[in-house]
Amino acid sequence: MSPLTLEELHPGTDHERVVFCRDPEAGYRAVIAIHSTVAGPAVGGTRLWSYPREADAMTDALRLSQGMTYKNALAGLPLGGGKAVILASEGTGSGQEREAMLLAHGRAIERLGGLFMTAEDVGTSPEDMEIVRRETRHVAGLPGGSGDPSPRTAHGLVRAMKAAALHRWGSDELAGRTVSIQGCGHVGYHLAVELSRMGVWLRVTDVDPERVYQVTTATGAEGLPPEKIFSAKADIFAPCALGGILNAETIPQLRVKIVAGAANNQLQEPADGDRLRERKILYAPDYVVNAGGVIGGAPELLGWGEEEVPARIDGIYDTLLAVLRMAKAEGVSPHAAADRLAEERLAQLRQGDNK
Ligand code: NAD
Repeated sequence: MSPLTLEELHPGTDHERVVFCRDPEAGYRAVIAIHSTVAGPAVGGTRLWSYPREADAMTDALRLSQGMTYKNALAGLPLGGGKAVILASEGTGSGQEREAMLLAHGRAIERLGGLFMTAEDVGTSPEDMEIVRRETRHVAGLPGGSGDPSPRTAHGLVRAMKAAALHRWGSDELAGRTVSIQGCGHVGYHLAVELSRMGVWLRVTDVDPERVYQVTTATGAEGLPPEKIFSAKADIFAPCALGGILNAETIPQLRVKIVAGAANNQLQEPADGDRLRERKILYAPDYVVNAGGVIGGAPELLGWGEEEVPARIDGIYDTLLAVLRMAKAEGVSPHAAADRLAEERLAQLRQGDNK
């Protein structure tokens, strides 16, 4: 019999369920956080990361699962929010040990009985999800499934930039504007290509010079050293690398009018949303603008027709406008307005008003 155990945790947040999963024989330790199943089964990626402490893994899972609930609610998807984080340890990086760990993860998800569905995330791949699939059907993002979400995430972000431009400048024309991009990875690359085709000037950076080279050769963008990106003059700044990069140290350096990027959890703390507002920099909340990828997964997750996807991704434009107009009308920061709108939608669903 498998030594897998699921210990119920009670972190004192409004998460519906949080479990610590262990299977010592498989070298498996993970936190699965189910924030909300009000709109539908909780979906969220499986992150494999080396955390200094178990408590850090828990914090990540709690925060990211709540973000997924809000993202799905504002994207109008009948899905809730969850997240799995597996604590990487020596030996879990490859081979049979990795396989045993992923199989244990599949068993843990199966025990949750469909409350939680997962897919690849930082540190995991579609091939890993194929292994998880051997133990549970509650998994998407398989090879040959919805594919790389990044082009759709990038396109949704372009739509969001247009909406933010309309709100800020009265026109959603981006041609002739300058966009600075932090991170020339999957999303950053596709974003740069789409924007350059629209006649946007680009200033880009990455800690990996090879990635900067790929973008500058594909688009004619100006490459900058990583530390220069915050003070780079531009109309729009697009953080497409890591979370927590908008903070008390970086916000004073910004020389842009709008921040709109794909990275999750860009604000280090909620007060950073207010810091941006004080500097009259319009912040397009991350989970509103980076929903293109999860929307693109709807055919695989929900059985939608592929033809429904483009219009839904284009709809990020209207969603962001609604958030920005609400923030303006109520004199609050956009991140606070987005949270409020998401919570209102969830409250409506709770009351059964989900036609
Ligand atoms: P990625 O790993 O392909 O790209 C991230 C890039 O950022 C890498 O090239 C990396 O070298 C670079 N980077 C890391 N630290 C940096 C730093 N300090 N300065 C400059 N560059 C740095 O990831 P991705 O798929 O492009 O995703 C980018 C971000 O968007 C992530 O935060 C991800 O969680 C988020 N996101 C991605 C998607 C998607 O569809 N891929 C969807 C929603 C959110």
